[in-house]
Amino acid sequence: MTKKNDTGNSAAKEKAPAAKQKVRVATTWLDGCSGCHMSFLDMDERIADLLNAVDIVYGPLVDIKTFPEKVDVTLVEGAVSSDEDEKNIRLIRERTGILISFGDCAVTANVPGMRNQFKVADVLNRGYIENVTVGNGIPTDGVPKLLKHARPVHEFVKVDLFLPGCPPPTEAILFAVGELLEGRIPEVTGKTRFGA
Ligand code: SF4
Repeated sequence: MTKKNDTGNSAAKEKAPAAKQKVRVATTWLDGCSGCHMSFLDMDERIADLLNAVDIVYGPLVDIKTFPEKVDVTLVEGAVSSDEDEKNIRLIRERTGILISFGDCAVTANVPGMRNQFKVADVLNRGYIENVTVGNGIPTDGVPKLLKHARPVHEFVKVDLFLPGCPPPTEAILFAVGELLEGRIPEVTGKTRFGA
């Protein structure tokens, strides 16, 4: 963990849910590959124990289309890469008590940030025209507008806890959620690391 992240995590202490309180948890992603969510789901049967203690109110496990109000904890995977990502993360922040930057793409921009050295027009050209043999053309309808750069979540909204890793190991996710359920802010140093 970097000093920056240690500082961010300690800043969340006052927001820890009260011990034994049933916690409303959401998971979501912005510009990510879903690998962090796959690591979350790798908890297998232990998810049954988790569901005894939390309500999962948003994410791939539940069929809810709109991010709900009054979420205690949200894990956000992925960088902020488009105008839609930015709009979503601001809404999520408003409706969340403890916001967890979940995985290296959320924490540093990581893989989505690899495009930052190129112009947006060149990225689109490469993806939709140069590398396409059939039906090539840059879409204009129903596709979010890319921001100039993909950037980490904390550059847009306040983050309460950083959980790095690509993806974060399942055990680290379980540890972090378990600590929050006990009313403690997890100290994840040594549990995961960048590129883990
Ligand atoms: Fe995928 Fe790694 Fe980014 Fe998670 S941190 S979304 S696993 S690339």
